[in-house]
Amino acid sequence: MQLRGLSVCLALFLATTSLRAAERAPGAAETRPPFVRVIGSVQDGGFPHAACSGLACRRIRANGSQRYVSSLALILPESEKIYFFDATPDVREQLQIVADARGPLPDGVDRAPIDGVFLSHAHMGHYLGLAFFGYEAIHTRELPVYATPRMAAFLRDNGPWSQLVEKENISLREVSPGATVSLEDGVSVTLVPSPHREEYTDTVGFLIRGPERALLFVPDTDSWQRWSPSIKDWLEQVDVALLDGTFYSGDELPNRAIEEIGHPLVASSMDRFEKLGQAAHAAPEILFIHMNHSNPLLLAASPELAALERRGFKIAAEGMEFDL
Ligand SMILES: [Zn+2]
Ligand SMILES: [Zn+2]
Repeated sequence: MQLRGLSVCLALFLATTSLRAAERAPGAAETRPPFVRVIGSVQDGGFPHAACSGLACRRIRANGSQRYVSSLALILPESEKIYFFDATPDVREQLQIVADARGPLPDGVDRAPIDGVFLSHAHMGHYLGLAFFGYEAIHTRELPVYATPRMAAFLRDNGPWSQLVEKENISLREVSPGATVSLEDGVSVTLVPSPHREEYTDTVGFLIRGPERALLFVPDTDSWQRWSPSIKDWLEQVDVALLDGTFYSGDELPNRAIEEIGHPLVASSMDRFEKLGQAAHAAPEILFIHMNHSNPLLLAASPELAALERRGFKIAAEGMEFDL
């Protein structure tokens, strides 16, 4: 796979860098460092949410826009590799989002559009997109799928996922929670155990380390109190964190007790993480991701979004990029 669209960035980069460029051998191309691109930012049901005619969903439909289910693409320009973090029901569109980093594309279906997928867990927003890599659609050949042993066993033992394994569309790579996978270009991925409902599998987030910077991605978790080691210990290792921002406050779920919600609320996460910023070490940049359609942070001019930004936090959006 070649990284066609990056040549524009490359030209700009070369135009603005001086000494190192002068030292390079003639003809040797400088490439961008590894980076992560946000290719989806909302909860499993999407936004607009399936079958929802609430105000926020009506508004975004009227705009003709949409957000995709939370997912990241790790793009390695040097070795021309692309890895996805989760395979969402929106994977068709998400493959298109990284099309500028692929190419030249074949005249027809690209049977190897990406180089691997890391899966967080078996809730619908996080793995249903795997089906597109199967016989009826892209029909990949041994696409590496990195998953915990429990997640791998779930895929191996249950149709239709077992067909992907049997037909060798995917190649399961078992990685224990806490273990690290080394990829190309000095990038590694550690599976970060995340306490979360376990109907089918365990759940992990990901710590992606590059040559210069590190990023933490935790789309789904129960309250931060249940973390051991603590979330603070993981945050201290990274420069950027994309964290579960499913619900802003209990107001979104009027008939449910806060303890039953099963996600940390953004309002209390901000209190917790703001204290990190007051500590001596440098705090990472924190963005919330995996917002539910009910979350007021998805409304462009909401007072909740303005307050969040005043406190130094952001919400993730499709197209954001983070160099590693
Ligand atoms: Zn989810
Ligand atoms: Zn989940």
